[in-house]
Amino acid sequence: MKDEGTAPEKAPRALLESMGLGEWRYSDSSQPGSPDAYHPGRRIAIFLDGCYWHGHSCRPPSRWSPNVEENRERDKRINEELSKRGIKVVRIWECILLKYPGRVLELIMDSL
Ligand SMILES: [Zn+2]
Repeated sequence: MKDEGTAPEKAPRALLESMGLGEWRYSDSSQPGSPDAYHPGRRIAIFLDGCYWHGHSCRPPSRWSPNVEENRERDKRINEELSKRGIKVVRIWECILLKYPGRVLELIMDSL
């Protein structure tokens, strides 16, 4: 997980733990792209995407990283690699996690 400022690293973990599914692996380097969280039983990979690094519409493009295109290409490759392995990918924007954690929970629940 990369971020412009201080990464709210504990927030998504607490959220995931609250779902009671157990078994999450964090920053799992055994999977393509080292998902921020990976659930081996459910085969779900979760990425927390920084709005600056990945170019979210919540801010003008002038405030995106100059490497946004590369990062997006990389994201795409990682998504493809994971789906080839039969793993579902859930990508969560950092700003949504911060403002609407309940919405993030719904997103993850919907992917189960
Ligand atoms: Zn955003």
